[in-house]
Amino acid sequence: MLSSNVNGGIRKTKIVCTLAREAEPGSEEIPKEIISEAMIERLQRRGMNVARINMSHGDIEENSIIIERVRRVARRFGVAEGIMVDVPGPKRRSGPTVPEELTLVRGDSLVLTSRDIVGNQSVISVAPAGIHHDATVGSAILLADGIIRLIVQRVEGEDVHCRVDVGGLVTEGRGVITPGKEPSLPSLDDKGKEALVFAAEQGAEFVALSFVNKPEDVHNAREILRDNGVSPLIISKIETVDALENFDGILAASDAIMVARGDLGVNVSRHRIPSIQKELIDKCNAAGKPVITATQMMESMMYSESPLRAEVQDVASAIDHGTDAVMLSGETAIGWYPEDTVYEMAQTALQNEDSLPYDDIMLAKSAQTEQRTDDAIAYATVRVAHQIDAKLIVVFTESGSTAVRVSKYRPKAPILALTPYEIVRNRLTLNWATMPEVISTPQSGDDIFEVAAEEARKVRGTRPGDSIVVVAGLPMGVPGSTNLIHVMTIR
Ligand code: PEP
Repeated sequence: MLSSNVNGGIRKTKIVCTLAREAEPGSEEIPKEIISEAMIERLQRRGMNVARINMSHGDIEENSIIIERVRRVARRFGVAEGIMVDVPGPKRRSGPTVPEELTLVRGDSLVLTSRDIVGNQSVISVAPAGIHHDATVGSAILLADGIIRLIVQRVEGEDVHCRVDVGGLVTEGRGVITPGKEPSLPSLDDKGKEALVFAAEQGAEFVALSFVNKPEDVHNAREILRDNGVSPLIISKIETVDALENFDGILAASDAIMVARGDLGVNVSRHRIPSIQKELIDKCNAAGKPVITATQMMESMMYSESPLRAEVQDVASAIDHGTDAVMLSGETAIGWYPEDTVYEMAQTALQNEDSLPYDDIMLAKSAQTEQRTDDAIAYATVRVAHQIDAKLIVVFTESGSTAVRVSKYRPKAPILALTPYEIVRNRLTLNWATMPEVISTPQSGDDIFEVAAEEARKVRGTRPGDSIVVVAGLPMGVPGSTNLIHVMTIR
């Protein structure tokens, strides 16, 4: 059980790692080698629970090699590993220029154009076309994830004339954003649709959708996935003003949420990110849907062997707010110290989860119960486990839903989720405190308790005499039949 391998404790917060290339520490070159199986194995041992493939980068062939390697390593060690395919959304980017790198200086004039040209120091093309429709005279346009700031002077035909307010370096493919105004682009372009088909072909457990603005964006993607014969869990990335306005509908339409702080911090004031993050996490917790806190969590570790104290605090704060998972982007995709970064993140989680206010959380959660048997059983399980200081909660789950419900109530004891299906196991890799395992379905009521005790004994840290709480449904093998709580002692 990899999530229990850190310092002998059991980590509850899940770690998502973006995988791409393997860097040579100390080298200034952009890494060219696809991440190796050996590195993937080391990241898994350190605590990676979900591997994220960002389809904005790398081609289909490279990304399918990464997925193949992740699957091979997970199979070799018989561990749960989720694959997340991150689908690019509608985002304008800068076009090619000569020379390839341009330095913009405050006060320079620059034209951004929808025309398909090779740019230069005074004009840069922006695709997809339409920037001239979204630019407003006097307002800002941000380039390169907000590093460069232009002020719009006038719009003439397809050309937007700007003055550089904050300079910097521009290369091809950098994001071009009109803050506060969503680009007039379809929610899924050809690249997005291609990524959805790729996710379907690869059997990804999770599909992350970039720049979701409204519930219909989620419905459209789900339909395309269904047409391709699959129904992975859909994670909506919240990164626009419209997404914040339509959040309740988006949450209802989605299976999980990602607080995508990179683009969100460009589209709204970065100073609002902490309170927005807290509010979004609260809403996801109340709905019992997993939430990932993403971007710049340990950014300095791209090129440094240890994190800033403020980064450790950022990870701990997200956990304190109630995030299910924390995510690494460039740190593991192209950074020099991916293994150390995962280790630092795992340790931060492990060493701060014990001090969460479990009593208060449980009291607050009593207002979030639903009038249905499986939810009542899940809440009662967590109460019982808490009162008797159980070491472990063992959940037999066909579809994964009972384990998700128990996780919703944030137990102090970790959850061992036992399922007959590999796909269910892998889909549970994002849920807080859940350690999913594949077992064969017990045949009778008595078998349930024997299997529960046997599997509990394998969990690091459990000892004879420990109490465990078992949750199951009789008859066995029928989804939605959760109706049993049983307290037992490990012998
Ligand atoms: C983000 O913007 O924070 C994010 C996670 O998305 P991407 O990595 O695709 O920019």
